Amino acid sequence: MTDRVIQLVSESTRNIPLNFAPVASNAVPVRDTLQRKIHDLRISVTDRCNFRCVYCMPKSVFNKDYQFLPHSELLSFEEIEKIATVFVKLGVEKIRLTGGEPLLRKNLETLIDKLSKLQTLDGKKVELTLTTNGTLLRKKAQVLKNAGLDRVTVSLDALSEGVFRQMNDVDFSVAEVLDGIEAAAEAKLGPIKVNMVVKKGMNDHEIIPMASYFKKTPHILRFIEYMDVGASNGWKMDEVVSSSEVLQRISAELEPLECIDPNYTGEVAERWRYTSGQGEVGVISSVTQAFCKDCSRIRLSTEGKLYTCLFANRGHDIRALIRRQEHQDQTDLLLENAVRNLWAGRTDRYSEIRSANTSQAGDRIEMSYIGG
Ligand code: SF4
Repeated sequence: MTDRVIQLVSESTRNIPLNFAPVASNAVPVRDTLQRKIHDLRISVTDRCNFRCVYCMPKSVFNKDYQFLPHSELLSFEEIEKIATVFVKLGVEKIRLTGGEPLLRKNLETLIDKLSKLQTLDGKKVELTLTTNGTLLRKKAQVLKNAGLDRVTVSLDALSEGVFRQMNDVDFSVAEVLDGIEAAAEAKLGPIKVNMVVKKGMNDHEIIPMASYFKKTPHILRFIEYMDVGASNGWKMDEVVSSSEVLQRISAELEPLECIDPNYTGEVAERWRYTSGQGEVGVISSVTQAFCKDCSRIRLSTEGKLYTCLFANRGHDIRALIRRQEHQDQTDLLLENAVRNLWAGRTDRYSEIRSANTSQAGDRIEMSYIGG
């Protein structure tokens, strides 16, 4: 079989060299050009997934010919730990493990055990979270908790089996995901957040059934506006259901909602509570209510590139630095300089400047590659 690689955009054009020069300021936490501090590190531990969600990893692109990264290209757990240690030193307080589907990465608990020992600048345990499609949680939840994972976010786009299978485009059932959520609750990996991407004409009629179901549980359901992430989901603005419409529907058909304060500056979801006090929902409104002004997230791809925005089209390779043989004793310092310089020069605010032109640009990095 000829090796047919489906390359969305050639890699060489995607890498921006890092600046290893000593930095002007040693202030921590590091702040970018919009005075946003670095707080969340999202680490993609695999580019593979057992789902083919139409808004993230459509089968038309991620089919049997798609060449995923060979294992030798992936950062090892030791390399991820080394990088995460430098980020925590610069102010990161929360690490989220993503993918693809992170639970497909073998022995992930070994990495979690390493990262769970990291302490923030003020001596607290770094918060360790994970985003998953839930299908492997029954098997892994307790092991992950024992290794030091704090909590999970589970993706679930519908309660209707038919709609769910249409969205994930593989043969996994809602029951398996709900059982995974149950297993996470039993393992005390909460508060559990459940993410639903809403696409008009596909699952927006599931908003009320989902809200009604999770209102009776301690889990927090978050509605995510369908986004123009990557270059392969064929995004159209008229398939977006705005968060304000979602909240209006719930208030009209279920129970009125009231807005509540964020847990911390830069939190992605806007929090809402039912006026009866029973249950909380969230909305993530990247399309209609940009939240770039407090964005404190940086992403590390599976094979060692840094991305300062979910909608980036180029990254910064740090694996080469980590894997070089000479001057190993200087690696941490050079990595620290590089990350400081990178973040200090950050200007990203894609959601604020999104337009018909930007959303049609076909060279953005795939969400399945750098995690949501
Ligand atoms: S669009 Fe980029 S800068 Fe804005 S919130 Fe998302 S990741 Fe942050």
